[in-house]
Amino acid sequence: MRNAIQKNKTDRPAITIKRDNCMQLQPSEDQRLVRDSFAAFFRKELPSARIREAERAGGFDTALWQSLVALGAPLMRVPADKGGSDSGLLDAVFMAAEYGRYLAPAPLLEVLVAARLLAALNRDELLEQIARGDRRVGFMPLPVNAGDRVVVPNLCACDAIVALRDNQLVLLTIDSAPLAQNNLGRAAIAPWPVPADAELLAEGPDAINLFQGAAEEWKLLVASAAVGAAQRAMEIASEYANEREAFGRPIGSYQGIAHPLADSACDVDGAELLIWRAVSAIAEKDPEADSLISQVWWWVSEACPMAAHRSLRTLGGYGLTLEYDAQLYLRRIKTWVLLCGNPESALDDAGARLFLQQHVGLPPAGEVSIEFGLGEQAHAYEQETRTFFEKNLTSELKKKRHHSTSSHDPEFHKQLAAAGLIFGNWPVEQGGRGYDGYIAHAASRVFEEVNWSTFMAGTSGMVAGVIQLFGSDEAKRDILPRIRDGEIICSLGFSEPSCGSDVFAAKTSAVKDGDDWLINGQKMFTTGAHIADYVLLLTRTDPDAKKHAGITLFLVPLKAEGVEIHKVETLMSERTNITYYQDVRVSDAMRLGDVNAGVFVMIKALESEHSGAGYHMGQISLWLHAMQWANTKDANGQRPLDNADIRRGLARVRTRFNVSEILMFRSLWASEEGVEGTLYGPKSKLFASESYTTNSWELMKLAAPFSLFEGREGLGGIEQGHRRAYGTTIYGGTSEIHRSRIAESALGLPRTRG
Ligand SMILES: Cc1cc2nc3c(=O)[nH]c(=O)nc-3n(C[C@H](O)[C@H](O)[C@H](O)COP(=O)(O)OP(=O)(O)OC[C@H]3O[C@@H](n4cnc5c(N)ncnc54)[C@H](O)[C@@H]3O)c2cc1C
Repeated sequence: MRNAIQKNKTDRPAITIKRDNCMQLQPSEDQRLVRDSFAAFFRKELPSARIREAERAGGFDTALWQSLVALGAPLMRVPADKGGSDSGLLDAVFMAAEYGRYLAPAPLLEVLVAARLLAALNRDELLEQIARGDRRVGFMPLPVNAGDRVVVPNLCACDAIVALRDNQLVLLTIDSAPLAQNNLGRAAIAPWPVPADAELLAEGPDAINLFQGAAEEWKLLVASAAVGAAQRAMEIASEYANEREAFGRPIGSYQGIAHPLADSACDVDGAELLIWRAVSAIAEKDPEADSLISQVWWWVSEACPMAAHRSLRTLGGYGLTLEYDAQLYLRRIKTWVLLCGNPESALDDAGARLFLQQHVGLPPAGEVSIEFGLGEQAHAYEQETRTFFEKNLTSELKKKRHHSTSSHDPEFHKQLAAAGLIFGNWPVEQGGRGYDGYIAHAASRVFEEVNWSTFMAGTSGMVAGVIQLFGSDEAKRDILPRIRDGEIICSLGFSEPSCGSDVFAAKTSAVKDGDDWLINGQKMFTTGAHIADYVLLLTRTDPDAKKHAGITLFLVPLKAEGVEIHKVETLMSERTNITYYQDVRVSDAMRLGDVNAGVFVMIKALESEHSGAGYHMGQISLWLHAMQWANTKDANGQRPLDNADIRRGLARVRTRFNVSEILMFRSLWASEEGVEGTLYGPKSKLFASESYTTNSWELMKLAAPFSLFEGREGLGGIEQGHRRAYGTTIYGGTSEIHRSRIAESALGLPRTRG
């Protein structure tokens, strides 16, 4: 393993990310090597019996420490010329996740942070002592004053502490280490009075900056440890839920067990990605970087204890017994997130850093292979789209702006198509620009900014994709170019009055009649049918076959004889429709895919809808409206942002927004890179739509009662966003359906649906 850590430092230049690089969410090979090596090390060293033994011994395993020293782990972040491995922050984050996953009873994260700080201060003799295993110098992540009674992480496993005491960076020697006082996590901690005696290490602004950087690094590492532990807790729960039976079924087949775990799977994934995002932001010198670390601390304190709690509950009474490991994870995770006091206060830091520019020193990131950017070409396309809207959105069109199909304007739609702004991802030979998903996504963000709906472009693009894969030559020749040029638009006719989630239970029939088909039935929620030219219609062609086997899809002209369209109004102010089909005659050339093989067509059609990419979008305008409101001065010249409670609430909203965005980025990345079987799309869709509802309600509460009024800008936009959010939890598959899919495929639980 020393080799794994060493290898990391040698063959790469000390660069971070190039700004024009595009999304890259795969750790580098070296980083995977570091992670895998630590995983193997901890797995071998730390069977749960040894963790329990360390708990009884005060939360510290001396032999484990010696092994970690032999590996060079405490000096991982120290430069090579001072005997360290010069590892990047992301490597340390990966190591910390494994440390957490195996609940390592050792002060590794504190010593690692202190060692980097001591190296920056050229305290070589102390570093040598740490490297030899002669000393364990820990770290206090909060500023203290002499005489304060404090809790220092892993204090009882250290013989000295680096701290910012009375604004000076000092080394506090622990003459006789206090014994650990019984505590929730059986950690090596005890209340401790900060001594008056200390060795001065440094003082002044640089020393404070250095301390802040170390404290921020420590938070990222402990957060990563909590994520690793939460992931293991979820595995324990999933394994148990598959084995344990109640009432003749595995308990994992009960949604009361499966769905909360699916929620935690999203939350914990989001926590892990938010840590990566913070590290990448440090490397990029993103002004939100320090706020992101506070957001990480708060989010981890929400997501990880909840995951451990759900894991414990999954095991029923056994979860409470000390023989089972679930309780170890619950106790340790809850201890970690409380070490800096009430984690809610991290929101104050997040808000102050984000809105008041009260920035703090940050640790060096080193090499960061992860990249969240969309790339230069995406930014250019985004700008092109913005310029187009600035130039072409007339005052008439501005009045029509809405997130629903009511903003559809046939002429403007054609203009957008001609400018290459709606089907930029089509292949060049078919008249598109051949852009990838990242570039196309950048343009969609502008549509959201200007409140111009992408709904009809989205459904038409989806139908075009299905025609490309399954359509007849005639459909490809006659229909595809007209969709591309914006001359026609398409809607989706899957749901029926008696079935939505259970879409394959559809009753609308298609019966062969000569060379044609005759369609009879009704569809519910056929959004856009009143303005569309075609509907992609799911029909039953074999009533005797099993549910999934007798389905065929057709492209049905909505102007055909026998089609009737009735308006349905919704809470979201989005018009949808009920559509009736009576002896509607459709040519066989309008059939998509083989007869009775519609399930394959649907899988492709729903793939893009379930990718989750579109479901984060509403939060973009929600955040813009929130900022518009928060920055507006009242008669006394005060802005909502000047109020600490509101900053705290906004920081909470911002954190969920960021988690939603990175889950969406991961889904986009997986779809672009062909990473399959991960359920990243449903995870993104579920989190985006649920957090949209939570965030918009949180904003409504912050601004109540004036948030009650409808409007287009500021608070009005928030009110509208809140109603809109409900729709996103239903269409494209309800949250419950996605929870079931995540539980089944990502957590390996038994199927909960028929
Ligand atoms: C504004 C709007 C626009 C829409 N646009 C379109 C469109 O253009 N084309 C189209 O085809 N459809 C569209 N839909 C329909 C949408 O896809 C369905 O509403 C959705 O799939 C849910 O179906 P349902 O309403 O019949 O609810 P049901 O399926 O009856 O579900 C009712 C409740 O039961 C839950 N439930 C159902 N099955 C399970 C299960 N197995 N486990 C746990 N819980 C379950 C659901 O989550 C939900 O909470 C739209 C819907 C809305 C509201």
